[in-house]
Amino acid sequence: MLIHKVIDFQARNLGDAPMLGEAGGDCLTYAEGAARVHRMAHVFSDLGVGRGDRVAILAQNQPDAVLAVVALAHLGAVAAVLNWRLAPAEIAEIVTDLEPAAVLAPDDELLPLLDMWRKTAATVAPVIDRADWTARVDAAEDTPFSGPDIGEDDTVLQLYTSGTTGLPKGVRMTHRNLVAAWQRTQVAASFRTRPGDTELLVAPIFHIGGIGPALFCFFNGARMLTCRTFHPVETARILAEERIAYLFMVPAMIHAMVAMVPNLADYDFSALRLIGYGASPISDTVLKQAIEVFGCGFCQYYGMTEATGAIVCLSVEDHEKALNGRPDLLLSAGRPGPDVEFRVVGPDGRDMPAGETGELVFRSPSSSSGYWRRPEETKATMADGWVRSGDAGYVDADGYVFVRDRVKDMVISGAENIYPTEVEKILIRHPDIGDVAVIGVPDERMGESLLACIVPRDGTGNAAALSAEAVTEFCRPHLAGYKIPRRIALMDSIPRNASGKILKTVLREPYWATRERRVS
Ligand code: ATP
Repeated sequence: MLIHKVIDFQARNLGDAPMLGEAGGDCLTYAEGAARVHRMAHVFSDLGVGRGDRVAILAQNQPDAVLAVVALAHLGAVAAVLNWRLAPAEIAEIVTDLEPAAVLAPDDELLPLLDMWRKTAATVAPVIDRADWTARVDAAEDTPFSGPDIGEDDTVLQLYTSGTTGLPKGVRMTHRNLVAAWQRTQVAASFRTRPGDTELLVAPIFHIGGIGPALFCFFNGARMLTCRTFHPVETARILAEERIAYLFMVPAMIHAMVAMVPNLADYDFSALRLIGYGASPISDTVLKQAIEVFGCGFCQYYGMTEATGAIVCLSVEDHEKALNGRPDLLLSAGRPGPDVEFRVVGPDGRDMPAGETGELVFRSPSSSSGYWRRPEETKATMADGWVRSGDAGYVDADGYVFVRDRVKDMVISGAENIYPTEVEKILIRHPDIGDVAVIGVPDERMGESLLACIVPRDGTGNAAALSAEAVTEFCRPHLAGYKIPRRIALMDSIPRNASGKILKTVLREPYWATRERRVS
């Protein structure tokens, strides 16, 4: 299946059914949405964009940015949705790497982000701002666009990894990858939306957790409402007023809603059937609070850009099992989807037995064909379709996957391997801790030791409760002695990227400025 053909089909099949709009704004029907996509395809074609060309999209979540991805698919061109939260120098680096045929920048306030690229690039592609874009789409031919004969293995999307562990790399995804990811998430989550349902898009479209569900919503024939950015109170209001059936959030968003929305329990969430979440670890305390207050099904996804999103799901049924006598399941990411070959690989390259930790490695029809112009990195991370996740974890006897931490964030203290995420999951249960990150810092005796960076709850903080001694006492019943952080740093906030991942390199930096950190 080709993604643009699915939209054309839905236009014929569903016609006047609502397809897409900005929350609080007008909504396009499937017939109107597909017609707009064809007009956009004419616009890109007139700009000289052809098969295999890349087009950068620098936009917050908005309907045209999503439709532009489908329009480019008609041409066999590749949509590269850029992270507008990056600094100008980072954007410049990515656009230079991309060598786009055009840049679509329909949010005028984001245009300054492109200035550094324009000053430094050898060749500069046209930048289409809001006025230019509107004029071109309005003036475009209102006839079906007929593009080249493309196949399921044509690349349609290129997203840059979030760069939590290094320089961003452009991950290439094909029609086949997207369709496989859509099918798998429906089977593994045992959930899909239908015509008549509404989904809400709050996760950013420059992540697969944003653009993936947006496209999948159209495959299901449901209505998608977009929010430019995420605001907890606004999201609660829209969920209730628009009777949203499904949305995907990263754990930091769920945490923000539970912690920051006044009287969350008073909103009417009766239309909500499922909240999907993933992209970083979640605290079981926050998850239990969310299950209670939203009162709908929950599904966890574990995956990565290189897999076109989720490959492992903790289904609605698994969450129910967890609440009925298997609380350990809330610490798992779930089971691999039916089309996923999954391995846990030890340091010597052999498969680890159940319960033993190694690197999580997998292969599936949604595995990316590779990084843009990085054959060495592609070979190292994605040889023969097998994706090395860079995550340490294990699979239990029932086939549930437990993600322990990123291999690069593991701390070796003395001779012991410590996975800081597991320590964070305990610390976040402390009533006076609002947010926490645990890192390894240099230690003369142990090589590395644990430092807990703690944000006191509500900024006020109960200083006595958060002394190193008090935190040690709190951890003692839950963690082996060598896993308990001996040092505490109180902070105002924990640096996180747009998908809520803790930027551990930023936290570690001041401690390791003069030393080389050993990475296993
Ligand atoms: P880079 O490769 O540049 O560091 P990145 O790995 O952050 O970027 P993403 O594809 O956005 O790029 O993130 C994938 C990673 O997110 C996974 O490898 C894993 O560490 C983490 N992750 C995803 N889902 C979950 C989950 N359900 N639980 C815990 N961690 C998760």
